Amino acid sequence: MKKDFIMPKEKSYYLDSLRKKVEKCKKCALHLSRNNVVFGEGDPGARLLFIGEAPGADEDMQARPFVGRSGQLLMKIVAAMGLKREEVYIANILKCRPPGNRDPHPHEVEECIHYLFMQLDIVKPEIVVVLGRVAGMTLFGKNFSITKERGNILEFRGIPVIPTFHPAYLLMNPKAKKLTWDDMKKVLGELDLPVPEVKVSK
Ligand code: URA
Ligand code: SF4
Repeated sequence: MKKDFIMPKEKSYYLDSLRKKVEKCKKCALHLSRNNVVFGEGDPGARLLFIGEAPGADEDMQARPFVGRSGQLLMKIVAAMGLKREEVYIANILKCRPPGNRDPHPHEVEECIHYLFMQLDIVKPEIVVVLGRVAGMTLFGKNFSITKERGNILEFRGIPVIPTFHPAYLLMNPKAKKLTWDDMKKVLGELDLPVPEVKVSK
């Protein structure tokens, strides 16, 4: 059972007011080059929350997380888990796109990360999936290794966190999809949800 003291209506209220604040944010230079802030979206009461790195070009244009090629793969993974996009919550470490999709700079992360912490504190998911090395290093420090830690149950702000590969990595290394699927089976197990029968596409 979910231990939770914020009612779903209050969660959407808190998330909406945070979104309004973040949409005006100019705390780092990324506000100069962005087309849109990508706050994040999903069920305010989601049991499962995904953390990506930062918006890419498609996300920056549409103001929505994971809507480009990586997003399509992530949605395939979510569907294979027997879940709908609207049932989970999707957020990123940075809310504005780094030009040319470069890695986030430490000072950008320092300015932006509090917004993600607030999202986590409001949604209070039962489990978090952190996608890829950069997001993993942000939560767990510079020695974090995605190949070593993927599939392990770590903890962040009192919430269990399972790291897995970023979908952009999976697009370049399709063989690793099987490992990510193993990680997602673990996530389903933690949520007491059944594992659907799926064939992992090549
Ligand atoms: N990659 C990410 O890490 N986040 C997005 O929202 C899209 C692509
Ligand atoms: Fe603000 Fe984060 Fe955007 Fe920087 S990346 S301007 S801190 S919302």
